[in-house]
Amino acid sequence: MRIGPHVPGTDIEEIPDSVRGLRLAFESGATRPLEARRGQLERLQRMLREHIDEWLDALHADLAKPALEAWAGDLGPTLLECRTALRKLERWAGPESVGLLPLFGRARIIREPLGVVLIVAPWNYPLSLLLSPLVGALAAGNTALLKPSELAPHTSACIARRVREYFDSSAVSVVEGGVAETTALLEQRFDHIFYTGNAAVGRIVMQAAARHLTPVTLELGGKSPCIVDQDVDVEVVARRIAWGKFANAGQTCIAPDYVLVHERCESALIAALRRAIECFYGEHPEASESYARIVDERHCERLRALLDGAEIIVGGEVDVGRRYVAPTLVRNTSRDSPLMVEEIFGPILPLLRIESIAHGIDIVTERPRPLALYLFSKDEEVQQQVIECTQSGGVCVNGTLLHAVAPGLPFGGVGESGMGSYHGRHSFETFSHRKPVLTQSLRVDPRFLYPPYGSRALHWLRRLL
Ligand code: NAD
Repeated sequence: MRIGPHVPGTDIEEIPDSVRGLRLAFESGATRPLEARRGQLERLQRMLREHIDEWLDALHADLAKPALEAWAGDLGPTLLECRTALRKLERWAGPESVGLLPLFGRARIIREPLGVVLIVAPWNYPLSLLLSPLVGALAAGNTALLKPSELAPHTSACIARRVREYFDSSAVSVVEGGVAETTALLEQRFDHIFYTGNAAVGRIVMQAAARHLTPVTLELGGKSPCIVDQDVDVEVVARRIAWGKFANAGQTCIAPDYVLVHERCESALIAALRRAIECFYGEHPEASESYARIVDERHCERLRALLDGAEIIVGGEVDVGRRYVAPTLVRNTSRDSPLMVEEIFGPILPLLRIESIAHGIDIVTERPRPLALYLFSKDEEVQQQVIECTQSGGVCVNGTLLHAVAPGLPFGGVGESGMGSYHGRHSFETFSHRKPVLTQSLRVDPRFLYPPYGSRALHWLRRLL
């Protein structure tokens, strides 16, 4: 079993100097002009495009990620973020006029970079979860320190090597390693910390950030429910659920974690899910090139333990040595079993029968707020009811995962599933300070506003308010 950091970490002694270099570069003003920002984004775009095979190989070595999933979940979203930022940078960065305010003057909001930002990423989408936020950070004019996950060592090494080649280390720098290196990083002062990963480490990050009053974005996880109403075409629904759940072997923060299925279509949905799994991965998913592996043996053991005592109706095979867990369906899971308490983060899908949509809503709302919520229903009233009566980072109706990549939509959690959001313009905003600027005229200067206060000023103020 692999234990501890899986990559040789950066020398901890070098960390303060790296941060100092990034700060000096930021303070020099070099990253502020739009041309400079555009240059950095183009660099990132080139870094990705010129080494496609290398990225695909690294993602395959870490997670046996099928090329299509690597494109759809890692390379594609990051390249899209780059392209959007390059196209829209000028508009995003332009001043936002609030207009002429009588007596006050001309009001506007300008976006300023924050300074030096730290981006800490997990292993499941090890490229996009590190480099997509970087797009926002660079577009906003910051310098950035990147910390890839040690559990995806091939991708981490590849990122470190290529970033060194394409970027000046005073603009973007990488620290590789695990807990010790991240702990050392968190002692430094940053102007923003963008962390993606589990909530336990999220708390550590937030505590460390509090010491320097550094703002944080926390992209966490949780149990994303999937409610299935009685009126649906179960074949389509099963395909969409199985795709969202078993892509990347279930190691997706917004994968449907459990299904709450209306009792009238429970058996039909189970049969359709069984067909969908077989259709996607064949009779022997372990031989399918379209099916990823679990990141390491520890996570395999964790998933195996979750299956103890479960009523497995499809799959259930675990081969820890090969980091393989079969696409698995579990029925009649009790509401307090570990499968319904912990985030599964693997290819195990528990199904719970519900008597009504209201019953499903009760089960969702008695738990911490999830990152995503899925609903399959044709009934628009039911759609409205579920959207209004539940709280989650995002919602996708009649589909899975796609709300996270739909252009224009912010992505982020709420409550236990995180704080803050990003993607597209929202990333730019996350890494910018909205600075209000008021410019008064020196020509008009009503004396009655100054002391000693007379009745005229009071009268005027009362009328105004
Ligand atoms: P991980 O183990 O790779 O940890 C994430 C990062 O935190 C790594 O860079 C790691 O080095 C660092 N880290 C780990 N322990 C630390 C410690 N004690 N102190 C300081 N730093 C530490 O990834 P993970 O947390 O296993 O990722 C899976 C979790 O992330 C799941 O809960 C999943 O839902 C969530 N996730 C969320 C999103 C999102 O966009 N909201 C995306 C992917 C994953």
